[in-house]
Amino acid sequence: MAKTVRLMAESKENVLMEKIVSLCKRRGFIFQSSEIYGGINGFWDYGPLGAELKRNVKDLWWNTMTRRRDDVVGIEATIIMSPRIWEASGHVETFADLMRECPLTKKRVRADQVEPQSGNVIRYSGVYRRTQGEKHFSQLIEEFALSLTTQKAIEQFFENNITDAEVRESDPQLYDQLKDAPNKLAAYKKAICSQGVLFNGFSVLLQPGKPLESARKTASQYYTEKGCSDFILLGERIDKVENSVDFHPETGVELTEARPFNLMFKTYVGPVESEDNVAYLRPETAQAIFAQFKNVLETSRRKVPFGIAQVGKAFRNEVTPRNFTFRSREFEQMELEFFIKPDEVVEAICGHVAKAAEISKESTEEPTSNIQHSTFNIQHLGPAADWGWEAWHKYWVEERIRFYEGIGLPRTMLEEYWQKPEELAHYARACVDILFKFPFGAQELEGIAARSDFDLSQHERCSGKSMGVFDEELRAAWSKLDDAKKEALSRRYHEARLKYLTKMGVEQAAAEQEAKEDAAGLAKGQYIPHVIEPSAGVDRLILALICNAYHEDQMPDEKGKPEMRVVLKFHPRVAPIKVGVMPLLKNKPDLVKKALEIRDLMRPHMNVFYDDAGAIGRRYRRQDEAGTPFCVTVDFETLEGMKEGPLAGQKDTVTLRHRDDGRQDRVKISELLPLMLERIH
Ligand code: ATP
Repeated sequence: MAKTVRLMAESKENVLMEKIVSLCKRRGFIFQSSEIYGGINGFWDYGPLGAELKRNVKDLWWNTMTRRRDDVVGIEATIIMSPRIWEASGHVETFADLMRECPLTKKRVRADQVEPQSGNVIRYSGVYRRTQGEKHFSQLIEEFALSLTTQKAIEQFFENNITDAEVRESDPQLYDQLKDAPNKLAAYKKAICSQGVLFNGFSVLLQPGKPLESARKTASQYYTEKGCSDFILLGERIDKVENSVDFHPETGVELTEARPFNLMFKTYVGPVESEDNVAYLRPETAQAIFAQFKNVLETSRRKVPFGIAQVGKAFRNEVTPRNFTFRSREFEQMELEFFIKPDEVVEAICGHVAKAAEISKESTEEPTSNIQHSTFNIQHLGPAADWGWEAWHKYWVEERIRFYEGIGLPRTMLEEYWQKPEELAHYARACVDILFKFPFGAQELEGIAARSDFDLSQHERCSGKSMGVFDEELRAAWSKLDDAKKEALSRRYHEARLKYLTKMGVEQAAAEQEAKEDAAGLAKGQYIPHVIEPSAGVDRLILALICNAYHEDQMPDEKGKPEMRVVLKFHPRVAPIKVGVMPLLKNKPDLVKKALEIRDLMRPHMNVFYDDAGAIGRRYRRQDEAGTPFCVTVDFETLEGMKEGPLAGQKDTVTLRHRDDGRQDRVKISELLPLMLERIH
């Protein structure tokens, strides 16, 4: 029963996703890349409405994260960078997913994303290739082939079933040599199988209701692909499996062992395709920020704490792109690296480090699971000098959730997933994923990680260039500390540095020496900043906004009859078109003239769509599907003056139609712009 309900729920969600995908194509939000050539898996193009939506989202992020703050600046770096950056960051060695392959179709799946399946598995040991084995023996083996399940069984079969006469017939000369040595003759009979037998197991899950013959067909296809032409299947047997994750979800074929698969796209810089010229398309935008940290620090004259933001393309050769644009191979990221003082430095300067709980109204109750709805509220408690990594981390989680709320994703549609200690990368102190409840499940929109000083330290080690900062405040504060405090803070800093260096494979004595020097740097006002990284995906956010906006409701048509409508209830801030401007009739020059005047009045301030085609109700519906929050209609009363109502006798009024409830107000043209601007900013 439970299973039936789950299946029904799944299919309802699938139907919703199908509707969303189809609306995206129909209305020009998102198209499959290279569609006229059959598409290319994992790549998507944004059409006219999608491009506007995306631009609005990126601008809002940029403005919120950089222009409206004193402590964040932006950069725009190249997509291809020195491959040494990716060696330092660990991407060359470890940026890999474990993947398994269907040996028949070569389709890959991520090892951790295989759906469990149950049923009968048909297994084969290999094949006997008539073309390579003796023709004569192949007739013999044919009858028993399916029961010969192991190499031993096959060898025994040959030994027991091939008569001496048959050996003589197939190779008279050899027979003459062996006939008086029974052991050698037996060994020869066994060895015969190696000529024609290919031991290579293959298993396939029989689809429900399918005959055994279909498994044989699939197995035959597989061995044909392997280059066998004239063969007999060997060793067929049936096993039952329950909830197994070893079979390909589409083909049912048993998957290969999991192997790591690097997700970076490789290319060559310059005309020569050699290992020396290898470069990668960046798999994240963050590393350029670390690599340019010193340049930005010096030119922007910022002091820690401060952040560097970047929006741009990233590329990952995902094993299984899926869920529409959710997991793509080319996508955009909006990343902030917010550099902070290490806790030891904060303590040296302020005498203490504020705990996250002290700076917030957060509930003190322990969360019962690591999924949480945010209870953190620091609206009126701005950043302070005594904030350590924990406070900054929580601050950014809250800032980011408030950003999502501000563009129309309600908190109830979001979840925080606090990674468990065993899930964290070795250098990370904490990581929170902000999930959105997509129709296909709650999935990550953004990750906010406290990454210690790992990234800058790596670039310092690998480039040989200092990534440390000089902090006058620290130097001054340090000289006033008592010896016990100096000793305690140095020891903690030393331990953290030593842990990092040894983890990265630095030899013990060298690591000791370096960590000692690093700790001694505190007295001189030097340290390597730590970082908090809020890292969001543009495309996932676009998909979340579309899923959240998608509604079907009833709205009366021109004759007042209820009609089903599809409407995208975007927040006006992100809506691709802010206002549709329409003359009631397109063949009345005065109406058209006035409507064009209104279009031109609004255009410098927002994206306006002018539409004069078709019945006004149809035009409203088209804008509903595009997610346009307002429509302005110019009618005869605009020109002649209102006949009745509060604006009776007044000219230059228009109908302002609201998308979500279809409400229509009469508004003076002179009031339109301030009214709209208030809603879209
Ligand atoms: P996932 O676990 O879903 O693969 P991730 O944890 O590897 O994501 P990060 O490396 O933290 O993701 O990247 C930061 C953000 O970039 C993600 O939260 C997501 O919004 C976006 N992102 C990452 N990979 C993809 C992708 N293949 N397609 C679209 N967006 C992506």
